[in-house]
Amino acid sequence: MRVVYVDNNATTKVAEEVVEVMVPYFTQSYGNPSSMHTFGGRIAKHIEEAREKVADFLGAIPSEIVFTSCGTESDNAAIMGTLECYPEKRHIITTRVEHPAVLTLCKNLQKRGYKITFLPVDNKGNLDLNLLREAITEDTAIVSIMYANNETGVVFSIDEIANIVKSRGVVFHTDAVQAVGKIDIDMKKNNVDFLSLSGHKLHAPKGIGVLYIRRGTKFRPFLKGGHQENGRRGGTENAPYIAGLGKAFELAKKHLKEEQGRVKAMRDRLEAGLISAIPNVKINGDTEKRLPNTTSLGFEFVEGEAILLMLDRLGICASSGSACTSGSLEPSHVLRAMGVPFTYAHGSIRFSLSHYNTDDDINYIIEHMPKVISKLRELSPFTQYSKMAV
Ligand code: PLP
Repeated sequence: MRVVYVDNNATTKVAEEVVEVMVPYFTQSYGNPSSMHTFGGRIAKHIEEAREKVADFLGAIPSEIVFTSCGTESDNAAIMGTLECYPEKRHIITTRVEHPAVLTLCKNLQKRGYKITFLPVDNKGNLDLNLLREAITEDTAIVSIMYANNETGVVFSIDEIANIVKSRGVVFHTDAVQAVGKIDIDMKKNNVDFLSLSGHKLHAPKGIGVLYIRRGTKFRPFLKGGHQENGRRGGTENAPYIAGLGKAFELAKKHLKEEQGRVKAMRDRLEAGLISAIPNVKINGDTEKRLPNTTSLGFEFVEGEAILLMLDRLGICASSGSACTSGSLEPSHVLRAMGVPFTYAHGSIRFSLSHYNTDDDINYIIEHMPKVISKLRELSPFTQYSKMAV
């Protein structure tokens, strides 16, 4: 069966060039980089080469790059590592639309006595920066605000946010898991203290991430153990994955312009094609400040899960904007925070592209999606809809 993979914000295909770089580390260069012998010790040099590639992509210095196991670990490390440095401060600011990697941690910290401000967003998914300004107090230990939203692709004004936070002397972390490799990020030009990223969103494998820590930023390791990563993250380095991540960044540098050109053009064509062929469709989120590969579309009067099942039968892999909570399909926390009307929120589908997608993939979706929606609307229990002309 044909597979059209448009779920790249969930995870991406590992680039073949990345796999090629990784393989020798499993069976040939398998030594421990901390070993005294040359066989292991030389791996350390390869890890440093990968670190340089990541740093080069981000406009960082290599010593600011700490390898972790995933985006979730990087997010947890930034927040917990900062709280440990400022034990007297008990306030954290974040947003209502963060990924669970930040949101669940903050809710957990709230139960442990921390005060958490969850900033709201408007109906386009944007923040009111005055609310951020008002929320910062003497007690604020860290502000953690994502770079780009995984569901809608909405991009926050991180440079401006970092300036606001830093002007008040507070630590700033951004979860850039969805932004890295898709939009320009230059750590030389911003005031961000911590930035998280994850390999599997940019054609490296699952299980490798990075926490960028600006030089001079106070930090205590989240994973306490050995002296690896300059004492900032215990645990034997995952050499194959680190080498693979280095290669993925080399490729990402090459593909960044394509992401903002060809990939964006495919996304725009997909969006326009579906909106013109299907009545009652709305784009969720700001269409200007958005990742070039993502669209979240609300199809009124249909269930997202039903759409996904029918798309699945056609080999189209996408995601819905719902979370299955205790048996009921609740719209996601992101769509709820944006106040997306429930008839649209329930039928929201996210398509997220990569440079592996082709024009044929887009044609295929545009050809089949209208039939899927009209079939589901015929069966829809929403009586209102039966009165509408399709
Ligand atoms: N942050 C965002 C915005 C994400 O989209 C994801 C994954 O979907 C994560 C964090 C978690 O990354 P990982 O799967 O590497 O733990």
